[in-house]
Amino acid sequence: MVKVLRARKYGFCSGVRNATLRVKRFAATKKKGAILGQLVHNERVVEEMEQLGIKTVEKLSDVKEPHVIFSAHGVPPSFYEKAKEKGLDVIDATCKFVLDIHKESKKALDRGEHLVFIGDPNHREVTGYTFDLGKDCFHIIQNLGQAEEVDWKKYPAVRIFYQTTLNADEYEEIAKYISEQNPLTHKADTICYATKKNQQAARELATNPEVDLIMVIGGKKSANTKHLYDICKNLKATHLIHGLEDIDPMWLQGVKCVGLTAGASTPDEAVDEVEEYLTSL
Ligand code: SF4
Repeated sequence: MVKVLRARKYGFCSGVRNATLRVKRFAATKKKGAILGQLVHNERVVEEMEQLGIKTVEKLSDVKEPHVIFSAHGVPPSFYEKAKEKGLDVIDATCKFVLDIHKESKKALDRGEHLVFIGDPNHREVTGYTFDLGKDCFHIIQNLGQAEEVDWKKYPAVRIFYQTTLNADEYEEIAKYISEQNPLTHKADTICYATKKNQQAARELATNPEVDLIMVIGGKKSANTKHLYDICKNLKATHLIHGLEDIDPMWLQGVKCVGLTAGASTPDEAVDEVEEYLTSL
């Protein structure tokens, strides 16, 4: 039998729980609505919402129903007004940590600071922060090379925000470089508590000598799942899986103990299924 050890902390965070609960409550009213972008980055959750009669659309213009649900990743502030103009009723499931960054970045901009978002420019959370802004008042930076191409000294002050689900260790050198170039640089620690706790627990699991192999369970588009995978694979043999169906039995040859962790948008059932399968071997 394969032994399974779960990370001390993994899976659903408060933002994801809140978003799914809001949609389930809405679905129970039998009103018609659509979710703008994946509610959370997990295909299983998206399917569950579709089964409840709430489909996911990519653009505001695709919403034909009277209600629109903004996902946990948030939207550009102008979308609230656009939705109103279209006569849509908004159900806002944006995570409060994302809303905090919207508020703080607006204040920083009003103070005349130049904004830096460290994260993925194609991620909905990051486009939510930047879509409405003029191109000269912000940068989105993903690596040190990009930071080195900018003349940071020309800005009176710089304010750095992190995408909520990053692995801070990987990006620290970017913040350090910008601070060295412009002493009036301030860094807002905006990586959310759930991401930090899941990452710390994943590190502990991957350094546990009893664990031979790690499986990280999560959605293909989930940034925080990808970061858990990156942390674990640097420490131990690791596979990133969406669920039970992705497991190759060959991985388990000679393996006595599997460590399990899961992204913040992974439902508990997905983890239970994997554990059940492994312990039944
Ligand atoms: S991972 Fe963090 S920022 Fe994202 S929804 Fe969960 S609590 Fe909110």
